[in-house]
Amino acid sequence: MSERCIFHVDVNSAFLSWSAVKRLKDDPDSVDLRTIPSAVGGDVETRHGIITARSIPAKKFGIKTAEPVVKALQKCPELVLIKSDFKTYREYSHEFIKILRKHAPVVQQASIDEAYLDFTGTKAASDPLKKAEAIRDEIRDSLGFTVNVGISVNKLLAKMASDFEKPDKIHTLYPYEIEKKMWPLPIGDLYGCGKRTASKLENYGIRTIGDAAVTPLEVLVSILGESAGAYIYESSNGVSDSQVSEEERDAKSYSNESTTSIDIDENNFEAVGLPIVHGLAASVAGRLKRDGVYAGTIEASVKTDDFKRRSHQRRLVNSTNDENLIEKTAIGLLEEMLKGNEGLFSKGYKVRLIGVGGTNLDRQEYQQMSLFDLMKGNSISLGEEKVEPDEGEIRREKLRKMMNDIKTRYGEDAVFKGRKK
Ligand SMILES: [Mg+2]
Repeated sequence: MSERCIFHVDVNSAFLSWSAVKRLKDDPDSVDLRTIPSAVGGDVETRHGIITARSIPAKKFGIKTAEPVVKALQKCPELVLIKSDFKTYREYSHEFIKILRKHAPVVQQASIDEAYLDFTGTKAASDPLKKAEAIRDEIRDSLGFTVNVGISVNKLLAKMASDFEKPDKIHTLYPYEIEKKMWPLPIGDLYGCGKRTASKLENYGIRTIGDAAVTPLEVLVSILGESAGAYIYESSNGVSDSQVSEEERDAKSYSNESTTSIDIDENNFEAVGLPIVHGLAASVAGRLKRDGVYAGTIEASVKTDDFKRRSHQRRLVNSTNDENLIEKTAIGLLEEMLKGNEGLFSKGYKVRLIGVGGTNLDRQEYQQMSLFDLMKGNSISLGEEKVEPDEGEIRREKLRKMMNDIKTRYGEDAVFKGRKK
């Protein structure tokens, strides 16, 4: 089994950075929000709500994300508050992911501002730092905001690594670095370890990730229950087998077609054909919008009176779910197919069905990925969730296998190092 090469790329203070970049684009003389104490969130006028992002200077005042705006203003009265601007966030997020897709064969968008990349088995895997620099620099130089890149052999460690010193930094967290770089961190910093889990562990004197890593599995299970105990045990030892998977695409294309009430020829194409195209474009656009998907390629197809289906497609400069653009593009494609000297009409064909579709899809969903999603298929959960005894047994078996696998790969010491003291 070859070593995996996984990156986690995370935009630094995404909402704040994106608002700053947008503001500078609109007014190059305005102050760069990233260089002053500033924050996104709440209702700017009434000063209610919570902080959703803050600049690094604001962080120095002790302002935290998710804290009430009122409290943040007490800490820093000159704090500049900015309105959320989701339209801008979506645009920059889209550009960000586009660059990642250019570099990596497998990209999994984890939330609006972060993604996992899998370079396993690629040329880039032989020099991951160089690849990470290329990605970081391209994003910074072409889009104007910075990212952190974490590099490791699995998603968990890559994610932990990207959270080290910010901004504009690249960090590795390979298994041999876990003890030095990850174990000294407070247990609450472990990805997937929520506040409640952390405080339960702290009650037992388990304060750092390293403390958890050297605590026997049975003890963690007795404190946290089967699944959470196993999760903390594995992850504090850097074990995670979650795969980087492209988002599930429940559809490869969005299309719709309609048989025509009468045969369409040159003479009635405008009168009969175009209204059909209009309706099809509207339904395709509506479904794309409903699912938050954009089509990069528009396709139009016809079935002629010899029962043959023919289609043409066109790649768009920018992906779209705009009804008018889809309609216009589809009409252009149909005219190419049907009209002119080489067109099907000239050859005497009549049209009995018209289809319009969007393919080459771009999905822009930004649901924050939960631990559940990350561990998808592993049935791991933290908190109060009950685990059936059978499932616990399966999990333990799986864990044993993983530990063995790690030991074979990195040596006996890799897993149990801390415990020998
Ligand atoms: Mg971020």
